Amino acid sequence: TRPHPNYYGAGPALLPSEVIEDAAAGMVNYQGLGIGLGEISHRSGQATEIINGAKNNLKQLLDVPDTHEVFFAQGGGSGGFAAIVYNLLGAYAKETGKKGKVDYFITGDWSKKATDEAIKLGADVNVVSDSRKFTDNGKFGVIAPQDTWTFSDPKDTAYVYYCDNETVAGVEFPETPKIPEGVELVADMSSNILSKVLDVSKFGLIFGGAQKNIGIAGVSFYIIKKSLLPKADVATLRKLDIAVTPSFMDFEIIVKNNSAYNTVSIPAVYVVEKVSEQLIKKGGLKVQQKEAEEKAASLYAALDAHKKLYNLPVAVADRSKMNIVFTIHGEGLEDKFLKEAAAKGLTGLKGHRSVGGIRISNYNAVTVQSAELLKDFINEFAKQNE
Ligand code: PMP
Repeated sequence: TRPHPNYYGAGPALLPSEVIEDAAAGMVNYQGLGIGLGEISHRSGQATEIINGAKNNLKQLLDVPDTHEVFFAQGGGSGGFAAIVYNLLGAYAKETGKKGKVDYFITGDWSKKATDEAIKLGADVNVVSDSRKFTDNGKFGVIAPQDTWTFSDPKDTAYVYYCDNETVAGVEFPETPKIPEGVELVADMSSNILSKVLDVSKFGLIFGGAQKNIGIAGVSFYIIKKSLLPKADVATLRKLDIAVTPSFMDFEIIVKNNSAYNTVSIPAVYVVEKVSEQLIKKGGLKVQQKEAEEKAASLYAALDAHKKLYNLPVAVADRSKMNIVFTIHGEGLEDKFLKEAAAKGLTGLKGHRSVGGIRISNYNAVTVQSAELLKDFINEFAKQNE
């Protein structure tokens, strides 16, 4: 087996080595069929078993209630930004005969992109809160206080959207945001799904690209309240000036076809099945949450202990447990940090190109031992450069 890497990239990200090796073997010859996972039909018995297996594992891990359905689709996280607008405006029109308003939290680059996409697709967007107005430098780095949030009238609102963990800004909602009663809550959990216990019943929709915590690129996951699947008919949508959902991103069509309306990536779903299976064996999300919190706490503590060198821009209460971002004071020290870390086999630490600095991604596949190694390096580098 491959030695498990000390890799902290933000996505595509590290996955359990056993899963990757198992999937690699399956790509060559799956279950003795003589053909691999990428070659079998997406409607074959084997593929159906993989899709159902991945679905059921996610249902079990997240304790998904009967009111909700899990499905897989294409388009990644960004595909979700668009699909949500079409589908949920359509569902709201079916329910109320109106074009609903949509409320967006802007807490980082990804929710900003989702907001821009909703505007582009003709949604009537209200920004609940823009975090950049709450920092000294006008950059992301905090969740604004709840008493500053401005929601639309709940009687007219199709949904409230937020990104639970901002992968670039390193900001994570410390708890599920409280929104007006009766309004559907939509969450992008691309970079923290399966890192903590969740109460799915609070959500109308949870979605994300798989390529961080639960799989490889090529598939995205959705958990949707079943009552949001039916949409108003085309004539009604046209009358209300709501864009009609393209079939391949129509949640109702996808669910009716068990995630195989068009050709879903079976190798990608297989990896989700195996990652989630391993997590069930490990003890589930309570165990994983505790581990993630402990790894993050130990890394943040090491950084906080050397404030003269390391600068952590995110408000303490809103620090992400998945993406730990910081800069290093002093000419050339970030490059030196990256180089010396790489020499020790600690890689994937360069910050996002839009913000620079250093980013440690602390996803589920980053072991306690790997987090420990990095913590030791952070301390050692501080001793030598402070
Ligand atoms: N949302 C979040 C929180 C992300 O981190 C990313 C990708 N890094 C996306 C959405 C976009 O995902 P994709 O590249 O699959 O479109």
